Amino acid sequence: MDVLKKRILEEGRVVGEEILKVDSFLNHQIDVQLFQEIGQEFYKKFAHKNITKILTIEASGIAIASIAALYFKVPVVFAKKTKSRNLDNDTYKSKAYSFTKEMYYDIQVSKRYIQEGERILILDDFLANGKAVLALMDIVNQAGATVEGVGIVIEKGFQDGGKLLRGKKVNLESLVIVDRFKDGIIKFMN
Ligand code: 5GP
Repeated sequence: MDVLKKRILEEGRVVGEEILKVDSFLNHQIDVQLFQEIGQEFYKKFAHKNITKILTIEASGIAIASIAALYFKVPVVFAKKTKSRNLDNDTYKSKAYSFTKEMYYDIQVSKRYIQEGERILILDDFLANGKAVLALMDIVNQAGATVEGVGIVIEKGFQDGGKLLRGKKVNLESLVIVDRFKDGIIKFMN
């Protein structure tokens, strides 16, 4: 997706050897027009899958999933990372290791919002080691639903998530795949 690559090259900042910051359009300030193009692109890739629901994880995934959902015309459910008295007691739970925060966190989805037999599309902003996606897949499996696809805005091709998910025959589509950052320079693999 050339427009996305252009923005990453113009505005992305590399932190250390493994983190890409794209706060100016994806993770803090949101470029809604760009998100529309991202949503359309996910729709092109997964429209034939008869998706019944999009599942993502708070916080950055919510905006991406919501705009994509306008094309799929399905609801969005986001997994919650924090415990809240607002959340139903009856939840599917899983655990993931946060690559950016370097700690484990629990994620939860109310059992009301994923039904057995549903065809789920998982969307997220970044794919690093695949822990967030695996935790979301675990929740879909617990619900007796199926993961019809996983859509990622930016995959970091030098981390293990892509290989892990493709090895499990997950239908993974990453809009851009970035290569190792050499001296802070960003290169793409796709
Ligand atoms: P994973 O679970 O695949 O190891 O990491 C994916 C999650 O970590 C994403 O939901 C994303 O929020 C965060 N993440 C991983 N790598 C990066 C990165 O380079 N930049 C940003 N902004 N977030 C990242």
